[in-house]
Amino acid sequence: MKLVQLFMTRSLPPQQLLQLEDEELSSLIKPAAHYNRKTKNLKKMCHQLIERHNGEVPGTRDELLALTGVGRKCTDILMHFTFREPTIAVDIHVHRVVNRLGITHTTSREDTADAINEITPFKFKHHAHEWIIQHGMKICVARKPKCSDCSLTDLCDYYQTEVV
Ligand code: SF4
Repeated sequence: MKLVQLFMTRSLPPQQLLQLEDEELSSLIKPAAHYNRKTKNLKKMCHQLIERHNGEVPGTRDELLALTGVGRKCTDILMHFTFREPTIAVDIHVHRVVNRLGITHTTSREDTADAINEITPFKFKHHAHEWIIQHGMKICVARKPKCSDCSLTDLCDYYQTEVV
């Protein structure tokens, strides 16, 4: 997320980022997993941004997905927050919650993103990511969901089949 934020805020243009030593860049993103690999990807992506897009972050899905290290979730986050195209970005929390509820029946986050974006009314797409992710981090946690604290038990496939 930190990488995305750097670009979202445009506080660190690619030309400047390329001037950082690998160690310095790694330390900036270190809370992220695989930070050494991500450092290399980030530098490759900066070269691509300069060569293909004049150093600007492109505003289409295809152009974003063509950049090194940019996947579906990152693209959805950028489209949503930077380019104001309401989209539900699916991370591990969103994937878990919507599948437990039975809103989707998917095994990959990409399929979950396709399915949930297809069925969610436009007006709810602005905030759905935050609502679902918060529910997944605080109540519907991975190992032991706190179903006794959840207001969605009546609607939840997991609760009806695994808990009751
Ligand atoms: S009832 Fe339990 S499994 Fe279902 S959404 Fe709530 S916390 Fe998650």
